[in-house]
Amino acid sequence: MEYRRLGKTGLKVSEISLGSWLTYGGYVEEQNATASIDKAYDLGINFFDTANVYMRGEAEVVVGKALNKYARDSYVLATKVFWPMGDGPNDHGLSRKHVIEQCNASLKRLNTEYVDIYYCHRFDPETPLEETLRALDDLVRQGKVLYVGVSEWTAEQITEAVHLADKKLLDRIVVNQPQYSMLERYIEKEVLPVSEKHGIGQVVWSPLAQGVLTGKYQKGGQIPAGSRAAQEKFKSLFGLLTDANLDKVEKLKEVAADNEISLPTLALAWILRQPNVASALVGASRPEQVEENVKASGVKLNDETLARIEDILR
Ligand code: NDP
Repeated sequence: MEYRRLGKTGLKVSEISLGSWLTYGGYVEEQNATASIDKAYDLGINFFDTANVYMRGEAEVVVGKALNKYARDSYVLATKVFWPMGDGPNDHGLSRKHVIEQCNASLKRLNTEYVDIYYCHRFDPETPLEETLRALDDLVRQGKVLYVGVSEWTAEQITEAVHLADKKLLDRIVVNQPQYSMLERYIEKEVLPVSEKHGIGQVVWSPLAQGVLTGKYQKGGQIPAGSRAAQEKFKSLFGLLTDANLDKVEKLKEVAADNEISLPTLALAWILRQPNVASALVGASRPEQVEENVKASGVKLNDETLARIEDILR
């Protein structure tokens, strides 16, 4: 496993990291969740991601339990705040009240004294940015949070937050968590250049397009039993499982074969070609998937391969 600096910070994270959305505390039973996390740790993944909202706290409990047997300083743990944790008016968003209360609740569920990274899971137009940044700064000063991040903020929102933090001498955002894959490239236009300028690193989610970029789904083919798309509520994979995408996947399989690597390796190595990406944040429902996905670390695609991929994706 190779490690990269997270933006301009001194923190080193594994090029492949492991998340827990939908899976742990959800449709993946705990034994498999723990086995996947253990496999990841054994293979050098030092970066684990969760959120308060994943299965309303259950994912944090499963991830915390699995990681607790390892030395706390040997891994980087991230969680998030924003999405509703209850039905009350203060049970969501980025108000000082919700941010502080949810951080304390996450620490309890994770059974840890601090999280390495605390993300604002979306932008909250109903809370003044300064209120949120001050609350996060307080958490940093209390030692409950080491680094502050955001997820799915626009380039403009990121810029505003950086300028405000600098002006008010508050802890700065150092990491952004957007969706990025061969099938979802919106960040390339503005978010990446703005992040680079401000020393913010990317930790990108759904880098395998929720499994579409593993090649296991085929146009007109059977949905594999037990896969994410086999579940009624996730069957479109949030709009990623389309014929147009599956056509691209068939062509990408040929590129992978010509390079003597698997399609997931090609898809993840393509993401890691971006120097501003610190880590590709995958999900895994079984340890074998972790084993497959870590193979991408350190793989460099040559210019000809990158050009072929560009032609297919365009
Ligand atoms: P991926 O694109 O990596 O998809 C993961 C899923 O694909 C797995 O659960 C598995 O599903 C399948 N898969 C993975 N590897 C393989 C393989 N080698 N062979 C076959 N199938 C494979 O990422 P996710 O969509 O899971 O997102 C990753 C993480 O990103 C989340 O866990 C979460 O931490 C974070 N995230 C953050 C968001 C945000 O708003 N900040 C939003 C969404 C996610 P199966 O076996 O069930 O088919």
